[in-house]
Amino acid sequence: MQKRRRNYRSGRKIKNTLEQRSVKYIKIGLIVLAVVVIAAGIIKLVGSGVFRSDKYVEKTGAAIDACRPDMEVALLTVNPYSRPGQETERITGIVIHYTANPGSGAMANRDYFEGLKDSHETNASSHFVVGLNGEVVQCIPTWEVAYASNGRNKDTVSIECCHPDESGVFDKDTYNSMVELTAWLCLKFDLNEKDVIRHYDVSGKNCPKHFVEDENAWDQFRKDVKKQLKKIK
Ligand SMILES: [Zn+2]
Repeated sequence: MQKRRRNYRSGRKIKNTLEQRSVKYIKIGLIVLAVVVIAAGIIKLVGSGVFRSDKYVEKTGAAIDACRPDMEVALLTVNPYSRPGQETERITGIVIHYTANPGSGAMANRDYFEGLKDSHETNASSHFVVGLNGEVVQCIPTWEVAYASNGRNKDTVSIECCHPDESGVFDKDTYNSMVELTAWLCLKFDLNEKDVIRHYDVSGKNCPKHFVEDENAWDQFRKDVKKQLKKIK
């Protein structure tokens, strides 16, 4: 009788130990799962640019927002061909480009960049595109790299500008928006008109065509940015 009771007791003991172990394994499993989910979340957030480099500095607040030009924010999907998800460093310049695609609008150019994730045609993008009617589309957050300005992708913000024909001359609405957006970015990153450069100044490329071929037009653009900056400062 005593023997039987002892057996019964030890049986329960084994059963209890097994249950405790199962609970322990389930707990470990849940912790591992939680770590994986959190890590995946962090990677996704880094990709979407939520975390910014310590070197990246921008002015924010009501005063900056008040003079922000109207824009449509239509961010590209993070992908290796047009939005690599890499952090920019301190922004030290604004780079002006032309699309070299006469008659194409801001959203069409934005969609072309987005399509590169599937076509793999080339690596190209821009933070902003200014359209034929002066509309502004933002494609990439300014704390993330755009594939626009070769060796200066890490420390500049890029603006692609639409033009109606082969001459590369910008229409008035486009031009006015370019001036406003550039001046606002100068204010945001504590820069001035001297920090506004052409793609040509980075790589020697004939971009933006009109401002490379007509130095006076380029000088005038910088002067207009200076004037606008004074107005909003
Ligand atoms: Zn360019």
